[in-house]
Amino acid sequence: MNSRCALVSNLIPFSCVDGPGSRLALFLQGCNLRCKNCHNPWTMGRCNHCGECVPGCPHQALSCVDGRVTWDHSACQQCDTCLQMCPKRATPMAQTMSVNDVLLKLKSVAGFIEGITVSGGEATLQLPFLLTLFSAIKADPALTRLTCLVDSNGLLPETGWQKLRPVLDGAMIDLKAWDSECHFALTGRDNAQVKQSIRWLAAQGKLAELRLLVIPDRTDYLQHIDALGEFIGSLGDVPVRLNAFHAHGVYGEARQWRSATAADVEPLAAALQSRGVKSVTLPALYL
Ligand code: SF4
Ligand code: SF4
Repeated sequence: MNSRCALVSNLIPFSCVDGPGSRLALFLQGCNLRCKNCHNPWTMGRCNHCGECVPGCPHQALSCVDGRVTWDHSACQQCDTCLQMCPKRATPMAQTMSVNDVLLKLKSVAGFIEGITVSGGEATLQLPFLLTLFSAIKADPALTRLTCLVDSNGLLPETGWQKLRPVLDGAMIDLKAWDSECHFALTGRDNAQVKQSIRWLAAQGKLAELRLLVIPDRTDYLQHIDALGEFIGSLGDVPVRLNAFHAHGVYGEARQWRSATAADVEPLAAALQSRGVKSVTLPALYL
């Protein structure tokens, strides 16, 4: 019985877009970046039970009990009104789950999936939970064949990765811009630690995927293609996935940004391939 808990924004038992094969995807609440292009901005903050969203719920699924906001799952119609209202970029629908709760979910679907991906928000912000969960999976004969992946922004320092390494099968890391100033403008943080994490994980054989998100007129990969190509080449044979920004579903100024098309993404793929990057995956679709 393991009672260590995490704040969870969502759990998808079968996901085909969060790593290889069919996987249980667990989304942890809270992030240490503030990406303008985030498609799930309500996963950034943690609810402080201010109550501001409660009267706005059109289906009376929210209430205040003893100073805490509670969510009635059975009444909720998933209209997302509360998400739009929250000044903390949080959600009243996040739920506390223990490691044991997640193990029970995993056991119910284990025969149909290849592994688990823990995403966010930023999964590594709840590192003790992550460590306990992955250790429990590796130690359980019924689950040990499942791969344990993390989908991360790469801000975890090396000391954290070192702790996770023995129970981590791989990390998928986003490099949201090459130049630190560009990264800062998009996310609110520079990218020195992100690049360091990418290098360290690759050297350990734990970099499952490097992801580049193309935002027209915003990301700077092509302006720095020689340095980017050299960096990726130095990582060894690492799969690179190119994602295309789409404005649908984002908040704030990014709503006005142009969505990426094949004409924006394919030149980057060609430039990387011409610099020796072998495994480049293009977006499955453009919106
Ligand atoms: S979800 Fe946001 S608005 Fe609602 S109670 Fe929590 S912090 Fe306040
Ligand atoms: S998504 Fe939020 S606002 Fe909409 S019904 Fe559910 S709790 Fe209420």
